[in-house]
Amino acid sequence: MENIRVRFAPSPTGYLHVGGLRTALYNYLFAKKNNGKFILRIEDTDRNRYVEGAVENLIKALKWAGLDYDEGPDAGGNFGPYLQSQRLDIYKKYADELIEKGHSYYCFCTTGRLQSLREEQEKQKLPQAKYDKHCLSLSKSEIEKNLQSGMPHVVRLNVLPNQKIVFDDIIRERVEFDSSNVDDQVLIKSDGYPTYHLANVVDDHLMQISHVIRGEEWLSSTPKHVLLYDAFGWERPKFAHLPLLLNPDKSKLSKRQGDVAVEDYRDKGFLKDALVNFVALLGWNAGDDKEFYYMNELIEKFSLERVNKAGAVFDLQKLNWLNAEHLRKLSDEQILPMLKDEILHSEFNVLHLTDEHLLLIISAMKERVSFVKEFITTCPYFYEPPKEYEQKAIEKNWKPETPEQLTKLRNAFTELKNLTREDYEHALAKVAEELNVGKGKLIHPLRLAVSGQSTGPGMFDLLFILGNDEVIKRIDTAIEKIKIS
Ligand code: GLU
Repeated sequence: MENIRVRFAPSPTGYLHVGGLRTALYNYLFAKKNNGKFILRIEDTDRNRYVEGAVENLIKALKWAGLDYDEGPDAGGNFGPYLQSQRLDIYKKYADELIEKGHSYYCFCTTGRLQSLREEQEKQKLPQAKYDKHCLSLSKSEIEKNLQSGMPHVVRLNVLPNQKIVFDDIIRERVEFDSSNVDDQVLIKSDGYPTYHLANVVDDHLMQISHVIRGEEWLSSTPKHVLLYDAFGWERPKFAHLPLLLNPDKSKLSKRQGDVAVEDYRDKGFLKDALVNFVALLGWNAGDDKEFYYMNELIEKFSLERVNKAGAVFDLQKLNWLNAEHLRKLSDEQILPMLKDEILHSEFNVLHLTDEHLLLIISAMKERVSFVKEFITTCPYFYEPPKEYEQKAIEKNWKPETPEQLTKLRNAFTELKNLTREDYEHALAKVAEELNVGKGKLIHPLRLAVSGQSTGPGMFDLLFILGNDEVIKRIDTAIEKIKIS
């Protein structure tokens, strides 16, 4: 394959949208798979939408997801600067070139004139409002005079009507537009900044981008870009427009129906591997039903040819499932620092718990949780005695004979020399035998007594992890509670 160079070109709006993460990821996977380069370019030419700190946020989110770029604002590279706001001279030069070649022209129309033109066209029920090329007929001297007097102006692309604009898209195949539907795009705005269209095309060309991989919402911009490539006499890159992301009700993914910022998912405790895995499957599959992937496997399997045209539904349940799967694949030691961090932010004052102790909790609960924080929220009893006991379980498991049974268990545990899981198990079996009841008849009331809950990890794991002193204290408290109620 030729020299592969792809880019992620976000406009910094304050956060990284999950759709943006999908675009960045597909670019990254495509570059890695093909020994190419992945470039981050910040498209910040819309000064009205400038948000303080947005670029830093974007970079942080990309790095968190593991999408390291070869070239970019903070990574350097031979094609910089990678912030469009630092490239204004370059755009000006290319806009001048197009004017000279007769492909674009100065437009001095006031907003008032443009407004009445739009209203007029609306009245005529034209399918879309378009500029009427009024300034195309200005004479050279009129243009000179206007420029010299400092009259506000823009530069527009001169789009010839009734032409077929055709381009190939790797995902959508052949795409055709009629140039009569394309407005005379503004290329340079009155504030001297370029529009997205001009800056995007100039940079993709100068940065030697081989493939433009971006969301489908940019498909309607592509004919304008194609006209620009042709006007400059530049070779077009290959295009690939990724399918839209949809809510489960098939509407376009929106903030109203849930989180759309990568940061929100990170803050909710989703693992980056799970989010990346999930996002990779939004519009792509390897042709089989495999769903669990690590980044290296995605790189190996990814191809643009296997990206679907149809919109991809954002299914939160699947993301939750993938998070649990990825969490389970981590070693206990990998989870340990994450749990410690959660503890720091939890209501529990249990910083004294040793790593050894926490590792036991992790191993007992790993199959039962989907998020690191659930190592705390689903089993608070590991960190403090139960504050209350599940009412339904009380009704079911605490019977008149329970205090006697618990007392016997307590006494048996007190006498234990060793404190292995097996010792607890044998002690309980012995008490069951003495009382002539099944082991289950003791386990359920005991679990409720020490944890306050009716479900949890294996009973003997639980006792072992809590430690004998704590177990006995909790049994005593429960006996008192049963007696008074
Ligand atoms: N700046 C555009 C965006 O915010 C880039 C679109 C493209 O990749 O061409 O997504």
